[in-house]
Amino acid sequence: MNSGIVRIEPPDFARMTGWTHALASKYSGMLQVSVIGRSVLGRSIYAFRIGSRRRQVLYCGGVHGREWITSLLLMYFAEELLDACANSRVICEMDIGRLLESGGLTVIPALNPDGIEISVNGADRAALGDYLDGELLERCRSAEFCRRWKSNARGVDINRNFDAGWDDMRAIAMERGIHGPSSEGWTGEFPVSEPETRAVVELCEETRFRHMVAFHSQGEVIYWNYRRFTPPRAHIMARMLALSSDYSLSEPDRTASSAGLKDWFMERFNAPAFTVEVGSGECPVPLSGFRFMYNRLREMLILGAAM
Ligand SMILES: [Zn+2]
Repeated sequence: MNSGIVRIEPPDFARMTGWTHALASKYSGMLQVSVIGRSVLGRSIYAFRIGSRRRQVLYCGGVHGREWITSLLLMYFAEELLDACANSRVICEMDIGRLLESGGLTVIPALNPDGIEISVNGADRAALGDYLDGELLERCRSAEFCRRWKSNARGVDINRNFDAGWDDMRAIAMERGIHGPSSEGWTGEFPVSEPETRAVVELCEETRFRHMVAFHSQGEVIYWNYRRFTPPRAHIMARMLALSSDYSLSEPDRTASSAGLKDWFMERFNAPAFTVEVGSGECPVPLSGFRFMYNRLREMLILGAAM
């Protein structure tokens, strides 16, 4: 397992920042940390580059606030990779140093740090009154309501804000009675309206990743296609990811079928992109299930970076 900087604790912004600085200083030769953007409330969105600058793969977690277990998963994995490189260790029979020399990995552990803060620490830490009002703000007084929050701090669902089938997703939101800011499901006023969405879009335009994986929770399932934009190799890659984790493959239902990061990535670059729903049970997935989940996903995480 890893060397002990990243702990199995809720990854709120204070912890994430502390772990990020500690990893950057311990592994300064191997890890390059950058701030690729800022959330609505000004929190840094970090990206970790590990290994070669060529043939990069992107892992993105923490898109939905209550799915913060994905941020912990990616931080924990990043530490294990760095530790393996530093000590020439093999993981899952893979020489990690060589793997990362032939193609690098970029990790965005938390794309939506404000949403995570709301889910972990409640509305007080999120200055929601600056952006939200009326009934929604009133509902945010409930700790349980906040715990299940998915959107960013102004009530836009980041994974409904990408420029891929956005109009269709907007129509679906309207059908579901979501006409404005909400704890989940609101597309925003126009595609890529949110700073969190822009941060990852700009990074992808700049880096041209060979494929990407977005981590959500929960369901133990992998989504791998998007309309006619799915490249042929995506299916076989998805099957390998599924085999290594014993997760199942699925196709999204209509209400989750567009305007997401994986959808935009496939349409824009005609390259494979996957959504992996980690863990089972209720969301937020409790920390007590973390080790089991991590052990089951470890090989898939290595394989996703190696393919
Ligand atoms: Zn999600």
